Amino acid sequence: MDIRGRRQSSNIEDRRGMRPVRTGVGISVGGVLILIVMSLFGINPLPFLGLATQEPEVQMQDTGQPYQESPREAQYRELTAVVLADTEETWNALLPSYGLNYTEPRLVLYSGMTQSDCGTGQTAMGPFYCPRDQTVYLDTTFFDDLSQRFGAPGDFAQAYVIAHEVGHHVQNLVGTAEKVSAAQQRMSKADANALSVRMELQADCYAGVWAHNAARSRQLLEAGDIEEGLRAASAIGDDRIQKQTQGRVVPDAFTHGSSEQRMRWFNRGFETGDPEACDTFAAQQL
Ligand SMILES: [Zn+2]
Repeated sequence: MDIRGRRQSSNIEDRRGMRPVRTGVGISVGGVLILIVMSLFGINPLPFLGLATQEPEVQMQDTGQPYQESPREAQYRELTAVVLADTEETWNALLPSYGLNYTEPRLVLYSGMTQSDCGTGQTAMGPFYCPRDQTVYLDTTFFDDLSQRFGAPGDFAQAYVIAHEVGHHVQNLVGTAEKVSAAQQRMSKADANALSVRMELQADCYAGVWAHNAARSRQLLEAGDIEEGLRAASAIGDDRIQKQTQGRVVPDAFTHGSSEQRMRWFNRGFETGDPEACDTFAAQQL
């Protein structure tokens, strides 16, 4: 992508200079968090449940100093602001044809730990969206992980991550998120996971819809960008991550979809540019 001279979103809140101050140890806040945040990739929730039972109650304290960012962090911030702005263009244009106005989400940049209306966000969770405060939470060190640990470098890999989280915001506005979480309460774990996969693949497809519009309406993409996006979608597939973290693949425990499915739905959104093509809930085969 060539982001020079592009509009940057004003919906970004920079909390990177803030320091957490522990005020005690709470119970269950993190448990709630796991249920209601929408994340980027599937993680074994157990380590996080472990954290949840002893979750530190933190308050973020402003140091009063402007955050001193490295050149790389500045690049990440600019890219995030441009991509968020471009998703605003896209969804502001698309949603009215479905009878909805687009309420732009907020995006919080943080480092290490931060508060959200869904509980305490931590870097290890990866980027996530909290429907309660309609905010995407991003520690941009994840972009280093994406490149080094997940093997998906490149600015468009990062853009895909942001567009996926914005996809969850769209699901929240449309009402899909609420329907899914209500249905999940009445289901077996395996069925709830299967529904979560449909939800996540739809967010991938919406990321593709954004990419389509960014390319066609604003010529934001360059050669090789889509390949970077597909590599990122593949890198965070459940099968790939399970193999890396536990050495085997357990499809019943998938919550986000396989590498192949994630690439396919991103690509479907990209090729059609049409949110209606993203009905993963009606699809016989994912
Ligand atoms: Zn997600």
